[in-house]
Amino acid sequence: MTVSAAPTTAMSRVLIAGATGFIGQFVAKASLDSGRPTYVLVRPGAATSPSKAEGLISDRENMEKLLKVHEIEIVISAVGGENVLDQLGLIEAIKAVGTIKRFLPSEFGHDVVRADPVEPGLNMYKEKREIRRFVEEYGIPYTYICCNSIASWPYYDNKHPADALPPLEHFKIYGDGSVKAYFVAGTDIGKFTMKTVDDVRTLNKSVHFRPSSNFYNMNELASLWEKKIGRTLPRVTVTEHDLLAIAAANIIPDSVVAAFTHDIFIKGCQFNFSINSPNDIEVGTLYPGEPFRTLDECFNDFALKLKNNNKDVGSHGNATPNHVVESLAISAPCV
Ligand code: NDP
Repeated sequence: MTVSAAPTTAMSRVLIAGATGFIGQFVAKASLDSGRPTYVLVRPGAATSPSKAEGLISDRENMEKLLKVHEIEIVISAVGGENVLDQLGLIEAIKAVGTIKRFLPSEFGHDVVRADPVEPGLNMYKEKREIRRFVEEYGIPYTYICCNSIASWPYYDNKHPADALPPLEHFKIYGDGSVKAYFVAGTDIGKFTMKTVDDVRTLNKSVHFRPSSNFYNMNELASLWEKKIGRTLPRVTVTEHDLLAIAAANIIPDSVVAAFTHDIFIKGCQFNFSINSPNDIEVGTLYPGEPFRTLDECFNDFALKLKNNNKDVGSHGNATPNHVVESLAISAPCV
C-alpha cells in the first residue's frame, strides 16, 4: 500500500496499527480518503517510507517515541484477534504521551461486554474487555467500534468471509436460519469509523452499526444470492450442536469463528440488547444523510466477480465447474 501524508495540517494526524490486515486496510483507505495525515505502523522487516512508522505495538518505548515524533493525535488499532493483548504496550505509550485525542482499540465486531460467546471465542472477548479496562482506567479518550458482521456469506470456518464468494453448490444454514444479523460493507466500516474519530458525540462511547437495510437472516441471505445467480441451491442445516462441537474442538482460528457464528445465528447476539444507555450510540443516528452500501449492492459485486471469474476461465477454453470458482481466493470490491 502506498501511503502519503495529506498536505493539510488542519486535520488530526492518524496512526493506524494493523493497516495491512483485513479490517485495517479499509480503515487506512478511508483515513487517506478523508484527507487526514495518515501513518501506518508496519512490523519490522517490511519496507519503510516517510509515512510508515516501523514497530510493534507491544514495544511501549518505541511506540511512545513514534507518537511524539509524528505528533500523532488519533490512534487506531486493527491488530488481529490473536494479538489483542499486544495493545497493552501501545496503551502505556498513549498514557505516557498524554496528548492523544482519541484511541480506537481493535474491536470492529460485537460489543464485547454484551456478547457472551462460548469458548474459545469468549477468550478473545475477555482480552478485548481487558484492553477496555486499561483504556478506561488510564482515562484515555476512546471510541469502541461495534460494526457487527462484514457484508458477505458468513462462513462458520472462515475468519475473513468477505474474501470468498457466497456458496455455489449448497448453503449451510445455521439452526432454522431465522436469526438476524447486521451486515456492513468493509468500505463502510472504514468510512464510518473515520467519521467517528474526531466527533465529540462519539467520545468515550461504543458506536453500534445497525443499518436497518442490512438486517438479514440466513434464509433471506440465501434467497438474495439465489436471485443474483439465477438458480436455487440446496440448503443443508448446521445445527447448534454442530457449531458447538466445532467450537469445542478448539482449533484456532476455526473454533473461534464457529463460537461467534453460534453467538450470532443461534443466540442473536447482535440485537438481543438495547443501545439506549448514554455510553451507546447508533452510527446511523449520527450521520443520517450518509448512506450505507446495501447488502443487495454487495451481493451484486460478488455476482459480478463470479461472472468475471467465469469469463476468465472461459477465455482459456476451460469450462470449469462452479465449485472450482468457489474455492478461488478473491477480493470482492464490496467487503
Ligand atoms: P488481520 O489478522 O487480518 O491483520 C492483523 C494486522 O495487525 C496486520 O496488519 C498485522 O501485521 C498487524 N499486527 C498484528 N500484531 C501486531 C503487532 N504486535 N504490532 C504491529 N502490528 C501488528 O486482522 P483482522 O482484520 O482479521 O482483525 C482486526 C480486528 O477486526 C480484530 O479485532 C478482529 O476481531 C476484527 N474482525 C472483525 C470482523 C467482522 O466481520 N466484523 C472480521 C474479521 C476481524 P502483519 O501484516 O505484519 O501481520
